[in-house]
Amino acid sequence: MPLYEYQCDTHGHRFEARHGMREQPVQSCPECGAPVHRVIHPVGIVFKGSGFYATDSRKSGATSEPAEGKSESPGEPKPESKSEPATEKAG
Ligand SMILES: [Zn+2]
Repeated sequence: MPLYEYQCDTHGHRFEARHGMREQPVQSCPECGAPVHRVIHPVGIVFKGSGFYATDSRKSGATSEPAEGKSESPGEPKPESKSEPATEKAG
């Protein structure tokens, strides 16, 4: 069942009611009995404020290895160039 949000016209009481679409909507505030109106949420959610940004879904770490050669991550510069011998594990 969908969840509806109502707001009291007189005192601004907000409450939620769960009922079917064909059922009678809530018409009176359960707290004070005043007439209520349904709060309609706008379609589409808009994220306001800082700190939120959309990220493209990019997979890091492919699960399936390529057919030929070895896959190297192109965009990963090392902060320091250490001189360490290239050791390879032979599984
Ligand atoms: Zn009320």
